[in-house]
Amino acid sequence: MAKIFCIANQKGGVGKTTTAVNLAAGLAERGQRVLLIDLDPQGNATMGSGVDKRALELSVYDVLIDQATIEAAVARGNGVGFDVLPTNRDLAGAEVEMVDFEGRETRLKQALVAVDERYDFVLIDCPPSLSMLTLNGLCSAHGVIIPMQCEYYALEGLSDLVNTIKQVSVNFNPSLSIIGLLRVMFDPRITLATQVSEQLERHFGNKVFRTVIPRNVRLAEAPSHGLPGVVYDRSSRGAQAYLSFADEMIERVA
Ligand code: ADP
Ligand code: MG
Repeated sequence: MAKIFCIANQKGGVGKTTTAVNLAAGLAERGQRVLLIDLDPQGNATMGSGVDKRALELSVYDVLIDQATIEAAVARGNGVGFDVLPTNRDLAGAEVEMVDFEGRETRLKQALVAVDERYDFVLIDCPPSLSMLTLNGLCSAHGVIIPMQCEYYALEGLSDLVNTIKQVSVNFNPSLSIIGLLRVMFDPRITLATQVSEQLERHFGNKVFRTVIPRNVRLAEAPSHGLPGVVYDRSSRGAQAYLSFADEMIERVA
């Protein structure tokens, strides 16, 4: 049975996609069968996995509006070791089109049933909003991974996300929980980053992942080559951190 996780934070630019793509690559490198679902119409996780969003015949959009199965729409990431359910701008329209659908918040969940045996991990890269798309992700998942930067405003907004997750778990998906907070783009030379990091540990205890992802330019360069950092430069500090994170995830869900 696949373990399904959302990578979510309603803020943009906090490292969701980088985490989704590199965790997928790290888990694949550890021998896990992985499907990465790109739920952000920007399609960054699609492109970052080496799949051209401009050349898709089918995408997650077709799956959500019931025009295709996941099996039919899935693409094999180019040399990355995992499968991708890709997306493009079409997905932005799904939000509106789904308004009249019955059970619209569980469309993705329904579609995932058919591939449950095929994967060990399904990772869902969510858009920077608490929209119907994110709701579909949260309704499908067993847990949420929250990437965050250790800066002053990081905690602001976290309570909105935590409340949304509680609401979803009460109303739609009782098995949903927060797997953990992942500190990303961490720079230990910045005093405030260290302070916020300690504050997170005090406040959230073992809900904070041990692994800390450093700020690392190789991770930022990798998408322009259509590769996860873990594949682009395996020896870089960023890639090594994501490989450790993959090990920590395997340990947590075992
Ligand atoms: P989100 O999906 O939350 O919008 P992204 O993963 O796209 O965030 O990251 C935002 C930007 O920060 C991107 O340009 C990405 O390459 C860069 N970035 C993410 N993580 C790191 C890191 N650990 N070190 C350096 N740059 C990073
Ligand atoms: Mg993103």
